[in-house]
Amino acid sequence: MSLLVTYDAQNIFAKILSGAIPSARVYEDDRTLAFMDAFPQSKGHTLVIPKVDACNLFDIEPADLQNLIVETQRIARAVRDALSPDGVRIMQFNGEAAGQTVFHIHFHILPMWDDQPLGRHAGGGMADINELNALAAQIRAKL
Ligand code: AMP
Repeated sequence: MSLLVTYDAQNIFAKILSGAIPSARVYEDDRTLAFMDAFPQSKGHTLVIPKVDACNLFDIEPADLQNLIVETQRIARAVRDALSPDGVRIMQFNGEAAGQTVFHIHFHILPMWDDQPLGRHAGGGMADINELNALAAQIRAKL
């Protein structure tokens, strides 16, 4: 698949934005939504997405990207403060060959601990929604 993909309004994050699919929401405003990854690679794995139709880094408007990364920083700080990880990895994939599986641009916030290996990307088990909602509330309390 090329990097020049056309935005598909039926992608899973578009459905999360519209509310058609449930998610464990951490934060929302008129430009941004943050929610828990349903197949977390670590405890507190959070996704931050813009409310614009962009597939990846290459088709998002610079002003929207600027807002998205600043919001990612703000939410990453709250994840850090809520969960006290040893490190926090920020990930963002462009194109199937790079590991992207959902074609609505997003940043991953991955809390990491020295003694805990990361789970598989987009291949692990689905988390319990009640646990995700509890983590979302913990993170939201630090925003
Ligand atoms: P990427 O592979 O970078 O496109 O990341 C997509 C992420 O979305 C993966 O980490 C998936 O676990 C996650 N994901 C897929 N479906 C859902 C869903 N319904 N709710 C929350 N996260 C999801």
